[in-house]
Amino acid sequence: MTHTPAPAFARSSGPRDAKIVLVGEAFGREEDLVKRPFIGASGQELTLMLRDAGIERGSCFLTNVFAFRPENNDIKTLCAKKSELPSSYALPPVGQGQYIRPEFLGEIDRLQDELLTVHPNVVVALGNIACWALFGSVGISNLRGAMAYSTLCPSIKGLATYHPAGVLRNWSWRPIVLADLKKAAHEAQKPGLDFSSRTLVVSPFLDELGAWCAAAGGHFADPTALIAVDIETSCGAIDMCGVAISPTNAACFPFFDKTSGEPFWSLWDEIKVRQMLQSILASPCRKVLQNGLYDIQYLRREGFALRNFTDDTMMLHHSLFPELPKGLGFLGSIYCNERSWKLLNRQKELKKDA
Ligand code: URA
Repeated sequence: MTHTPAPAFARSSGPRDAKIVLVGEAFGREEDLVKRPFIGASGQELTLMLRDAGIERGSCFLTNVFAFRPENNDIKTLCAKKSELPSSYALPPVGQGQYIRPEFLGEIDRLQDELLTVHPNVVVALGNIACWALFGSVGISNLRGAMAYSTLCPSIKGLATYHPAGVLRNWSWRPIVLADLKKAAHEAQKPGLDFSSRTLVVSPFLDELGAWCAAAGGHFADPTALIAVDIETSCGAIDMCGVAISPTNAACFPFFDKTSGEPFWSLWDEIKVRQMLQSILASPCRKVLQNGLYDIQYLRREGFALRNFTDDTMMLHHSLFPELPKGLGFLGSIYCNERSWKLLNRQKELKKDA
């Protein structure tokens, strides 16, 4: 079977100098009638969500990964199993054991041409298939909200969010899409990503940790200053504790390796590290934790006293938006640009195992 993609721009819409490009999956019934994207129910919901996020639809360029209607609106009809593909096929699957057949990959070249011509400040992938085409991965609930450079067009940054058709099926996703679209609107003001440079003390030597604590001493002593504290636990004990004195300056106090169970320090060094951490936790400055009630029981059990715990990000977020998830990964996806760190750890582990 052959498939000839329509020429670039023949089946998309919007200004060619748009700052925001929105990429959907494929045409549905209505789109197929007029050969333009987002005309039907999903498109109407998209228009409303853009409006609610402060973005005018007419200012955006809209296109699709597949600018045609798949049989039964089902992307699986464009897929083959790995065993049916040439050995040179290098693209990741779009679902379990499902790979886009080579005859449809011209559509990805057409999408790339459109993106490189418009060259927006930000591209938004709507749903898993667009996320696959633009960022090389699927798993939208873990990937959404994180700004990254596109793997298809590495000079263009973007993010993925839920597809409007998903929102119509699951209304609780709507405020999440709005938050992602607002982030996209903010990022659309300029090209490029600017991650702040950070001072992070990870896997430290004892004297590095001592130097970091000494440099931050004034901060710990100030009752109006705020520090963030977060523990990680495994096997019923604290395996590490992170302390941040600002969004860009933090240190990790490790105790043991959670996979091997090996202690990080010699006995005498561990006593010194525990004393350093104790003096921070008991210092006059304010402390912010995420679900601190969890951390406090472990800290108490291991003899750490926490003084001046004034703020809890989980409680604060939940009191503002009780309808939204409140885990740290979700908060990170809404309030920061970082990719889910639990997912990054899993990807690192998978690479190690490969
Ligand atoms: N869904 C899409 O992904 N694209 C459209 O154009 C319409 C519905």
